[in-house]
Amino acid sequence: MPWYKTLHWQILLGLIAGLIWGIFASLSGLQGFTQDYVQPFGTIFIRMLQFVAIPLVIASLIVGITNLNDLTKLSRMGGKTIGIYMVTTVFAITIGLTVVNVVQPGKVLPEETRDALFESYRENIEGQEEAATELLERSPLQFIVDIVPSNFFAAASDNANMLQIVFVALIIGIGLMRIPQEKSRVLVDFFDALNDVIIKIVEMIMKIAPYGVFALIASVIVDLGGEDLRGTIEILQALLVYVLVVLAGLLLHVAIVYTTLFKLFSNMSMWNFLRGIRPAQLLGFSTSSSLATLPLTMERVEKKLGVHEEVASFVLPVGATINMDGTSLYQAVAAVFIAQAVGIDLSLSQQLIIVITATLASIGTAGVPGAGIIMLVIVLQAVDVPVEGIALILGVDRILDMARTAVNITGDAAVSVAVASTEGRLGPGHFDD
Ligand code: ASP
Repeated sequence: MPWYKTLHWQILLGLIAGLIWGIFASLSGLQGFTQDYVQPFGTIFIRMLQFVAIPLVIASLIVGITNLNDLTKLSRMGGKTIGIYMVTTVFAITIGLTVVNVVQPGKVLPEETRDALFESYRENIEGQEEAATELLERSPLQFIVDIVPSNFFAAASDNANMLQIVFVALIIGIGLMRIPQEKSRVLVDFFDALNDVIIKIVEMIMKIAPYGVFALIASVIVDLGGEDLRGTIEILQALLVYVLVVLAGLLLHVAIVYTTLFKLFSNMSMWNFLRGIRPAQLLGFSTSSSLATLPLTMERVEKKLGVHEEVASFVLPVGATINMDGTSLYQAVAAVFIAQAVGIDLSLSQQLIIVITATLASIGTAGVPGAGIIMLVIVLQAVDVPVEGIALILGVDRILDMARTAVNITGDAAVSVAVASTEGRLGPGHFDD
């Protein structure tokens, strides 16, 4: 296959074309045209990805569990998954804290820029504060309650309920294992066929991915630039050190933590892993949503990296909901950056509080665009840094959202490889497109 026909190049070309169009549209007054006639194609693309996610998770998890044939394997896999997710998240936060404390981007932010940013984004942060406060007022165990649905159809009607869907599929799968095979076979065959159909649909959706990505990126650039692209570029310049610190932290995390994970638990090379997972990373970058990217992540992890379905269908949907290494790293950097910019020195014990709250906040962050900055409020409140400080970083948040989402997806895929390898469920990979 010629290089330009491979999926990741196709997506990358869509991304570059979207970037060029977005800048051109912002400079030539075509913002309205882009929002009215280009953005809808991006929305259609995201909706198609979203609509296959729930049937895909239900079908593949049910089939996966019935293949396991043994409940102890399931609980062992669950324990490992959650354990590795927690450890990688804590490492991500530690890396973020190290880089931000060494570089100290908040200290180099000029005072006038700081005041100007406060002024222009002050109004935008009220929504974030309210949303986070609502969450804090709930019972600490509410997150467990939320995993259990009271109605199957209600659970299956909202992608934000991904953990409920995983729960439903687990219960049905376990039920199927406990009835005689002549009865369960018909349902297992049904879900098996449904699973194949959905995977075919994902492949079909990927054919339009370059156009969808083009439309998404073009509208992100137009939204970012607003009426005044030059003003946005100035904000980006003022916050450049902060942006670079987050990006450097993310790169270090991928290079150190996932490479070590592979060394410890599997013999897959980082290079092959990245080759297999590249299109999902690019799609995560373009959509800023782990949940919207989930169907492609599942397809790549199973078909290219060789992770068996029973592992991928459990580890990945859970990861898209609770495992956000990129987000937690970003939340740690952002909290310290804001503290530095407003002249607060955080002690070591306060930084430890950041490790704990950013871990919890990233678990609570939904896999949708912009969710990470809402949960940042919780981290800031825990260490008494003024929440208004979010105004300082809002202007560049969408760009960082794209990068952290790509890392969130990479983390889910890496852990699925590690779990599969230790469970003897990692087949040979087919890393090329
Ligand atoms: N957009 C991120 C994701 O979907 C979450 C965040 O805002 O950090 O993974």
